[in-house]
Amino acid sequence: MNNCEKSREYYTTARELMPGGVSSPVRAIQPYPFYTVRGSGSRIYTADGIELIDCCGAYGPLILGHACKPVGDAIVAALDDGWLYGTPTPAEIDLAQILIADHPSIEMVRFVTTGSEATMAAIRLARGYTGKSDIIKTEGGFHGAHDGVLVQAGSGCTTLGQPDSAGVLSDIVRHTRQVPYNDTESLVSLVEKSGEEVAAMILEPVMGNIGPVLPKPGYLQEVRKITAEHDILLIFDEVITGYRVGIGGAQKLFGVMPDITTLGKIIGGGLPLSAFGGNRKIMEHIAPAGPVYQAGTFSGNPLSLAAGVAALREIHARKEMYSLLDKATTVIGESCQGKGGSFVKLGSMFKFFFRTSAPENYAQAKESDTTKFRAFWEKMLEKGIFLPPSQFETNFLSAAHSDSDVEYLSSAYASCLSA
Ligand SMILES: *Cc1c(COP(=O)(O)O)cnc(C)c1O
Repeated sequence: MNNCEKSREYYTTARELMPGGVSSPVRAIQPYPFYTVRGSGSRIYTADGIELIDCCGAYGPLILGHACKPVGDAIVAALDDGWLYGTPTPAEIDLAQILIADHPSIEMVRFVTTGSEATMAAIRLARGYTGKSDIIKTEGGFHGAHDGVLVQAGSGCTTLGQPDSAGVLSDIVRHTRQVPYNDTESLVSLVEKSGEEVAAMILEPVMGNIGPVLPKPGYLQEVRKITAEHDILLIFDEVITGYRVGIGGAQKLFGVMPDITTLGKIIGGGLPLSAFGGNRKIMEHIAPAGPVYQAGTFSGNPLSLAAGVAALREIHARKEMYSLLDKATTVIGESCQGKGGSFVKLGSMFKFFFRTSAPENYAQAKESDTTKFRAFWEKMLEKGIFLPPSQFETNFLSAAHSDSDVEYLSSAYASCLSA
């Protein structure tokens, strides 16, 4: 972005104070990121006074758009009563009831603060419940930033995992096995060989962190069948897909019941809140009901709960948003036809891949032309559109995007892809 002197200055200062100048790596857009000072509806506003249509939505949580009034009102109302007690609160019952009613696979939930915590605890629970040591994840599947899931994708399913980050012990990730997404043959051969050591398979039912990459028809059903046959718990990481692909998440959309579900992002209405849940028998292994320890100072904090309850009530009251969002991304997709790449969407999740056909897995997604993506991304930014700054991060539309926003996005896609 040109002429963004304030953002440039902030970044120069920030780099002295924080590693890479940021609080999370993807934000370190080069040569410098724009700094945001306000969000409202479908828009964000930068420190340099630029208004942008936001198709990042904070990487997933903001399906209602920025500063959604009912959510904001609930936060303000909760503030009056103080914001942290360290005791149970009535609001956690309200939110638990909503999540359980919306997800037939969930009979009990535990609230945590981040999605990373939710997947970490879900994996520990699976190990504690089954008494087995290993997990299976899909290549390119993202489940947060803790040790056991930071395993470089690309290794074959029989190869032991290599750490994806310095500081992660190979002793830990050797318990993380990988299979390509959409590939049941690799899964079968892995579990036939080593299934007895595997406590759980964790996957994003729709891969949101390399795409979206969609499940082939029947894939999730097959995964359910194979894991059940080998007494492997199935963990659906619905931190993105929960309330994003519809009420009830991907498990409802595709009709597959996992054993454990992780939720995050949307369920906090934009404040930090995540959860994991499953049937009573499994969940009662969590402390203090059972032997698997999990705890947190900020877990179930009243502000996040107030925001989450308000957001989910708003979503329920405006259910038609899902079909409207689906139509909107169809319109955007039409404008991308014949542009030498492939447009992939599911409801309000969408992406243009600089690759001739839609990727089915991580290896294929990685073949996309990231140089072309970057040039396209910059052109879109010049047109006042903020897309997540990576070929591999899903774009998100919100209920606050108007018809004219969608028209503008469509014509911008058409012209920036032609250029
Ligand atoms: C964002 C994400 C996480 C991690 O959630 P945080 O709140 O960032 O810790 C885990 N799983 C998936 C699928 C995600 O998209």
